Amino acid sequence: MASQITREWSGINTFAPATQTKLLELLGKLKQENVNSLTILVMGKGGVGKSSTVNSIIGDRVVSINPFQSEGPRPVIVSRSRAGFTLNIIDTPGLIEGGYINDMALDIIKRFLLNKTIDVLLYVDRLDVYRVDNLDKVVAKAITDSFGKGIWSKTILALTHAQFSPPDGLPYDEFFSQRSESLLKVLRSGARIKKEAFQAASIPVVLVENSGRCNKNDSDEKVGD
Ligand code: GDP
Ligand code: MG
Repeated sequence: MASQITREWSGINTFAPATQTKLLELLGKLKQENVNSLTILVMGKGGVGKSSTVNSIIGDRVVSINPFQSEGPRPVIVSRSRAGFTLNIIDTPGLIEGGYINDMALDIIKRFLLNKTIDVLLYVDRLDVYRVDNLDKVVAKAITDSFGKGIWSKTILALTHAQFSPPDGLPYDEFFSQRSESLLKVLRSGARIKKEAFQAASIPVVLVENSGRCNKNDSDEKVGD
């Protein structure tokens, strides 16, 4: 990898100016701490917006998205560099397809990751879903079985379709916290991690809206409600 020339992360230029400033500040801070690369693994069920989120982060259409078809069978790594910092992001096929755990995908992902160090697991699901179910549990168990319980201490939960009006007049913040809590709870139970240990991992939850239709604040930054 080191000998390869990584493409410039020029997609940053398409972000809102305020977002660019914050991101570049963050990259500067990481560099001061001698962190000059970050590898993010993106996983989740099929169709939840993993590939779209990769494209949003890179700021360019680098992986294909498809609402109706299951994804390609192989993980794809995209690398971009900016000001001496390299971002690697790995898009993966859905872990649940057609109601079943995609064991083949899991196997291929495991093999793909053999010589790589993962800094962050970006676990993606949708915000605009009301229920959690057994499949969420199954997927958490499969991730733990494949990558070990430690993976949950480097996890960020990303909820896509964030531009959304909750049902029954429920305030957005309340819906967001209920949805995150119930999802985290089912993930924890699937991962079979003790409540305290899971809470200690304090998984951050972030809102993601990949479509252009998204509310913006005065600084042109995307906001959830
Ligand atoms: P993946 O299977 O998890 O990689 O999901 P994709 O990224 O392929 O997305 C599946 C479908 O959901 C596509 O039609 C996307 O355009 C759509 N989609 C993904 N994220 C969002 C989002 O944040 N908002 C909206 N409105 N649609 C999204
Ligand atoms: Mg995809």
